[in-house]
Amino acid sequence: TITVGVLALQGGFHEHLTLLRRAVSQLATTKFELVEVRTSQQLAQCDALIIPGGESTTMSLVAGQTDLLEKLRDFVKVQKKPTWGTCAGLIMLSNAANSTKVGGQELIGGLSVRVHRNHFGRQIESFEANLDLPFLSETTDRSPFHAVFIRAPVVEEVLAPQAVQVLAKLPGRVDRMKTGVSQATTKGDSGDIVAVREGNVLGMSFHPELTADARIHVWWLSELLKGGAS
Ligand code: GLN
Repeated sequence: TITVGVLALQGGFHEHLTLLRRAVSQLATTKFELVEVRTSQQLAQCDALIIPGGESTTMSLVAGQTDLLEKLRDFVKVQKKPTWGTCAGLIMLSNAANSTKVGGQELIGGLSVRVHRNHFGRQIESFEANLDLPFLSETTDRSPFHAVFIRAPVVEEVLAPQAVQVLAKLPGRVDRMKTGVSQATTKGDSGDIVAVREGNVLGMSFHPELTADARIHVWWLSELLKGGAS
């Protein structure tokens, strides 16, 4: 059995579990057990972990109230277990974060990148974009993935280009569908890095858990089945 945890301190953990269940049934396997993680005891049962979107400052504050934050660092960086962060989860898994609004915050780290929180600022707090995700071709159809960005971070700097694989970039402005926003962003340049991988650690700016499309979950679980997140 491969026990997959979803960090359930705050944010979109429920949505991730829903898509994980769908992905498990698509894979038609009995190999996975899915658990919510709120304590270091629960984390210790896990072979792999998802850190959902939400609010990264809140997550690190809550995790820092117990030994969970240190145990998460150990899980990701010492035990090197497969860990996937979306949005706030990407921020948590980055080695460095900038923010225009908030000062320093505790991170888990693992990805040799610097993220910029709330990159798209107030003008465009949410938008959607069709992303080309070449890795999807390994498991499933690779038509563009409809990605939802909500006060999303981007990877502003790759600190170790040899180690970090860039998996996806934002397409050009014309391909972008804005939701509920009339102004064009000045910051969301095409080419912004929105998905990266470094060994066991995977990070995405957007929220695959907020769509009905389980392809990325299917792909990630398939990677776990192969035993090779790294
Ligand atoms: N802006 C949030 C943060 O800084 C992330 C937003 C999200 O996860 N939707 O943590």
